[in-house]
Amino acid sequence: MGYLKFKKASLISALLVTAVVIILEIGIFYFFIELPLSDYAFLFIIEFFAIFLLTYLLLSLSFERFLVSRVRALYKSLIPTTSYTSSVGQTEDIDLLTSSLQKLNSDQNLEIELLKKEQDYRREFIGNLAHELKTPLFTVQGYVLTLLDGVTDKKMRKKYLKQASKGIDRLNYIVKDLDLITKFESGIARLDQQSFNIVATIENVFELLEIQASEKQIVLRFDKEYSAPIKVYADEERIQQVLTNLIVNSLKYGVIRGVTEVSIQFLKENKILIRIADNGEGIDEEHLPRLFERFYRVDKTRNRNQGGSGLGLAIVKHIIEAHEEKIFVESEAKVGSEFSFSLTLDQN
Ligand code: ADP
Repeated sequence: MGYLKFKKASLISALLVTAVVIILEIGIFYFFIELPLSDYAFLFIIEFFAIFLLTYLLLSLSFERFLVSRVRALYKSLIPTTSYTSSVGQTEDIDLLTSSLQKLNSDQNLEIELLKKEQDYRREFIGNLAHELKTPLFTVQGYVLTLLDGVTDKKMRKKYLKQASKGIDRLNYIVKDLDLITKFESGIARLDQQSFNIVATIENVFELLEIQASEKQIVLRFDKEYSAPIKVYADEERIQQVLTNLIVNSLKYGVIRGVTEVSIQFLKENKILIRIADNGEGIDEEHLPRLFERFYRVDKTRNRNQGGSGLGLAIVKHIIEAHEEKIFVESEAKVGSEFSFSLTLDQN
């Protein structure tokens, strides 16, 4: 389209230039030299076509050169690293450059869309972070100010100090969890992968959480007896953290006298699936897609009192993805939840 337009412009300009030259010539012949015009009519016609053809060729060539060099310069200023323009010949053509610029335009619109989304996400994240930090910070501040006012009773002083210390602990683990997530996101966090027995690791987590489970009379158990070791190749400490976070959640959101059951399922291609199922409060389907986001909570008010940082599942996801494994969740409100993740068996 663009190509045709500037061919048309060359044609009209050539026609105008030729007409002006011929009219001038006729004028000179007629008024100054006073020659009979009819004798030269044929010459004028030949001359007209010759001048027209020449000017048309000259104009269209220089138009092309001018326009292509301008668009190229523009293109290069937009994408300095491009090698594309150097391969484009003069006549291959404005349309090609135009379509490239259109593509560039739509790419950039896409990029802007993405940046906007990221900005929203960042804004939400900062809002959540401030909110998370505010609660323990106000707790600490409240107790410290009361103590500063002077509390004479020694027992009360100790109680307030303990509460303030709990607030500081909470601040501490929010910062620690955030630090870990940042390390995973920026790729600094390293995995120390080795072969280990996943059954023993799960038993170890059961033991560590025994007291916490007994507070709600929740039973921690395997779905069956795993007498033989199951060797996986992963970072044991991190996988223990994943198991801990998931089992702690099953206790936090579990019902009194409930059950948390862990099972190991063998899949194809050296993979296994570790499932952690509970019969707790469950999660409504609408929340499932955002569950692994930082600070995402189903019940914004209640869960905070359970002491979590709101980062547990985000950490779990990062650890599993750093292992290039997958994490899944299935849940039904008031029925229970099942979190599962894949691991790779050690073949040696
Ligand atoms: P936190 O537990 O500190 O709030 P998490 O990232 O560990 O943060 O969990 C995010 C949310 O997912 C929790 O607030 C809770 O609403 C929901 N959740 C996680 N695990 C379970 C579970 N086993 N049963 C019910 N809800 C859960």
